[in-house]
Amino acid sequence: MEQVKLFGDYDSVIVNYSTGIDSTGTLFWALQNFPKEKIWLVYCDTGLEYDINDSLVWATAGRLGIKWVILRHEKGFLGLLEHRQKWPDSKNRWCTAYLKRDITEKWIRTNRDKLGQRCLYLTGERRDESPRRAKLPAVEVHRTTLKTTRKGVFTCHWHRPVLDFEKGSMFEQGKRLGLPVHPCYEYLGRCSCVACIFMPDRYAAENMKRHPQHFYKLLQAELRYGHTWKKGVSLVELWKETCEELPADLVV
Ligand code: SF4
Repeated sequence: MEQVKLFGDYDSVIVNYSTGIDSTGTLFWALQNFPKEKIWLVYCDTGLEYDINDSLVWATAGRLGIKWVILRHEKGFLGLLEHRQKWPDSKNRWCTAYLKRDITEKWIRTNRDKLGQRCLYLTGERRDESPRRAKLPAVEVHRTTLKTTRKGVFTCHWHRPVLDFEKGSMFEQGKRLGLPVHPCYEYLGRCSCVACIFMPDRYAAENMKRHPQHFYKLLQAELRYGHTWKKGVSLVELWKETCEELPADLVV
């Protein structure tokens, strides 16, 4: 892979913010290295998010005095699940591709005039989270970079500033920013979608108990399409183990 070096400065800095602790550490890094006027907090609502997330985005942006944007795919997770009739998995991770990557790229492309000619895009992966993340480059050229000057001049570098940090320091940095920790960390190890395909079953069970309203339509989709949440793990079965009775108005 091509070795990419960061520029000395950028016109704009996008922090891919999920309200989770790693993106909070990434935001801390951005604020340490750039004036807040250059920073954009970009949050992608997949449609499978905690109800509190929008207000956390507003509160973070308001407290730090930075610009924010919330992006939503017109179909959302459920609409895409109904269209594809299959859950995403590690080989076909359509949720991330459509609900996060593509809408972010579209937003960058349509807002080049606001972002200037040099844009830095920041995400909060850490190497110790998984073998895949361990191999990620610290810097690469983002796909929104214009290859010719026909439509203008625009370079976007994708930087992962917290790759070598440990999770504990992410919490510490959030504290230094005066930001509250997302309430899901009281009982989960990671802040992801409420029914993330990668979360341990016990975490999904916890979310079923605490946020059942997010699961009704997912259960319905699973029953209707006969394709389970994970290979060999059904949300319906997990619901029966966790909450016993299926919701009375479950329509198949
Ligand atoms: S958090 Fe999980 S379910 Fe949500 S978009 Fe990412 S991989 Fe997909």
